[in-house]
Amino acid sequence: MTNMRRILISGASIAGPALAYWLNRYGFHVTIVERAPALRRGGFGVDIRGAAITVLERMGILHHVRAADTQMTGVYFVDSIGKIKGQISEASMGNVHDVDIEVMRDDLTDILYNLTKDTIHYIWDDSITAIQQTEEGAKVQFAHSKSQTFDAVIGADGLHSNVRKLTFGDESQFKRTLGCYISVFTTSNYLNLNYCQQFYTIPGKTVGMYSAHHNTEAKGMFVFKSAPLKYDKHNPESQKQLIAETFGSDTGWETQRLLQSMKEADDFYFDEICQIHMPTWSKGCVALVGDAAYGPSPLSGQGTSLALVGAYVLAGELKSAKGNYSNAFTAYEQVMRAYVEKNQKIGLTAAEGMVASSRFKIILQDCMLRVPFIMTSMFKMITKMIVKAANGVELKDYLKSG
Ligand SMILES: Cc1cc2nc3c(=O)[nH]c(=O)nc-3n(C[C@H](O)[C@H](O)[C@H](O)COP(=O)(O)OP(=O)(O)OC[C@H]3O[C@@H](n4cnc5c(N)ncnc54)[C@H](O)[C@@H]3O)c2cc1C
Repeated sequence: MTNMRRILISGASIAGPALAYWLNRYGFHVTIVERAPALRRGGFGVDIRGAAITVLERMGILHHVRAADTQMTGVYFVDSIGKIKGQISEASMGNVHDVDIEVMRDDLTDILYNLTKDTIHYIWDDSITAIQQTEEGAKVQFAHSKSQTFDAVIGADGLHSNVRKLTFGDESQFKRTLGCYISVFTTSNYLNLNYCQQFYTIPGKTVGMYSAHHNTEAKGMFVFKSAPLKYDKHNPESQKQLIAETFGSDTGWETQRLLQSMKEADDFYFDEICQIHMPTWSKGCVALVGDAAYGPSPLSGQGTSLALVGAYVLAGELKSAKGNYSNAFTAYEQVMRAYVEKNQKIGLTAAEGMVASSRFKIILQDCMLRVPFIMTSMFKMITKMIVKAANGVELKDYLKSG
């Protein structure tokens, strides 16, 4: 099991290109297959904290990512006519000022893609259909490209990972649903939001708008609580219809105008808010990284950091194991497991308070917003928990180790 050199990664978002970057730096030949025809646009701001900032620094892109910081200042809670009921500053929302970073998700994918596009072989508009593990490695069939054998296959293909399904079985075994659905899309900044977000909450539902790219545009957001829904994961039009039905009768604040913008958006993102919990992240010469293995949910604000750190550790352990993928995957889990669990806990805690389910809870939240002492103490506690979790992994210097 020496001289392992050819690695296939499924998924070109955050975990995939970050892993490819490090593997290439250690001398592996890397191919990435992505189902979409090009880099996927869209998404809200994503947070990068703690150990993940060290990873960006070691990749030499920290300055680029910092330059793309959203510079958001906070969240305003509004009522049905847009009157501000309360505010939370960005600094009190778990972000450590001048240390943590928030970037639009697609700004980060652009940076990672530009870093890797000349050295990594990207295959777009394709997907793995079968992985057969043999003595020679993993024989992979694709929907369109011709079959090839790789020494290892890594699934970096998100919450609904295809590699996970092909290797470990149905997603239902690993998914922990948090009872909410989220949709995000680009719209114009017609409210002239100035580096801030506005949220309007009604029982079981939140509508939001977020200024983006230095106020030149905005992101609309719909979040709602629901029992598990059956819908076509690859059909954005039917997902838009589902949101339109859920929010169609709500006339407060900007709901109707945002529903209209959503219909026209070409970067519409919709997903269930859930976590992935697996007893192990590898089987033979196949392993998982990022959301595919341990998605903590957008509510944790830690999905991107886990993906960056996971990619760094997995590549480093593959280098250190000198071709013994089984040793590498075991070491990867040993380094990452406790860190992942701490960060997943943040998502579970946040889920409890994300969308108030009753009028009573909304009134309670409104009262709390009017008592700065309660808000400050609560967010101090949350920030402490996030800082601890975000730094809860020791990063070896794999470039120095033999
Ligand atoms: C379009 C989009 C918008 C998002 N918006 C937000 C947001 O607003 N807030 C937030 O917290 N998180 C968001 N996320 C999730 C966030 O990017 C991840 O939680 C985190 O960054 C970890 O990234 P990842 O690379 O592990 O997974 P992901 O970012 O989910 O990337 C998975 C990639 O795999 C690709 N893929 C899926 N199936 C296949 C297949 N069969 N074959 C090949 N490729 C496949 C996907 O197209 C995608 O490019 C979004 C993800 C996407 C794809």
